[in-house]
Amino acid sequence: MRGGVLRVTVLGSGSRGNAILVDGTDGSVLVDAGFGVRSLTRRLALVGRRPEEIAALLVTHEHTDHASGAAAARARWGWPGYASSGTIEGLDRTGEHRPPPWQPFVEAGATSVSGFTIETTAVPHDARDCRALAITDVRSGARVGIAMDLGRVPETLTAAFARLDLLVVESNHDEEMLARGPYPWSLKQRISGGLGHLSNGDAAALVSACAHPGLRAVLLTHLSEINNRPAMAIAETRAALRRVGWTGDAVHAAGQRIPLAAVAANGATSGPSRNDQLGLAL
Ligand SMILES: [Zn+2]
Ligand SMILES: [Zn+2]
Repeated sequence: MRGGVLRVTVLGSGSRGNAILVDGTDGSVLVDAGFGVRSLTRRLALVGRRPEEIAALLVTHEHTDHASGAAAARARWGWPGYASSGTIEGLDRTGEHRPPPWQPFVEAGATSVSGFTIETTAVPHDARDCRALAITDVRSGARVGIAMDLGRVPETLTAAFARLDLLVVESNHDEEMLARGPYPWSLKQRISGGLGHLSNGDAAALVSACAHPGLRAVLLTHLSEINNRPAMAIAETRAALRRVGWTGDAVHAAGQRIPLAAVAANGATSGPSRNDQLGLAL
């Protein structure tokens, strides 16, 4: 059986910043750095970790909520950085920070980083070349899929996300809340369009399409603080999973302000309780 070696900790997620720590048998990588150096350090400290323990940074796309802290963090801690060629072109490489050069993801194959292999899938989003990531811990074989920021789900993604142990997917908005909410029409169109963000219903459909008996936990991310509620997002995905016969129970929703407890490949959660974290609110 695949053990609990692979672990995922969402350090924070939403339109004001995203970062996800992935721990494996031979090392740890960070997916996205949408927080500044101080916030990243604090968030890692809340889960008992240090930036020096991270071996590399993977960036899904160049939007500021995913990459604003990338240059400073890489300059500070020397993390190698990986992204698609398009994302690398779009990343801000000006300013006083001088991190090592970015490395493009291997196309039509896997990128090997610190005991993981990373396979990427292009996803539709209003960025240069946004990627979803399938990350495999080589020694245990455990796999996590991470899909952040996509307007719709391409067939290639469902195929790439087969046989995952953990699935991290954006569940941005409730369609009705977005439609009735305060955003201007143009922004509503952008969010709900094919190059925007997944609704709770879209996320539920993707998750249920990827469901199989070995899937241990689902982590919903990038929830809108205006147009969504964690309970609604969780309920919609749970209902879809029930309909396809998934018998698990572990569906979590990440928040913007504080890290979510770590979730292991066997579905177990660990780390500070939510109440402990609230006591140390950022
Ligand atoms: Zn985003
Ligand atoms: Zn984006």
